[in-house]
Amino acid sequence: MGRSHRRAKSFMRINCPHCGGKAAITSRHPQTKTAVNLYCHCRNVASCGATFVYCLALSHTINPPVNVTAQLAATIIRALPAEERAKLRGMVDL
Ligand SMILES: [Zn+2]
Repeated sequence: MGRSHRRAKSFMRINCPHCGGKAAITSRHPQTKTAVNLYCHCRNVASCGATFVYCLALSHTINPPVNVTAQLAATIIRALPAEERAKLRGMVDL
């Protein structure tokens, strides 16, 4: 009987930079709050078996957190002259 593993599906697939085969992440070592080194082992053990490290780092934010967006909107609205704020109230449900 084969082994069965219930593993969480990962969005990340690592391929070996040497043979192109699948690799497993064996450990994670955070470098900063937004960067981590991923220690990997090529699963193509018979003909490769290389070990290597990938660096995973945050590139940029696409949408800021909701509270940041609200704070930005409030800052912009407060900077408007009173008449512009009144116009804005007519445009949106404030
Ligand atoms: Zn390999």
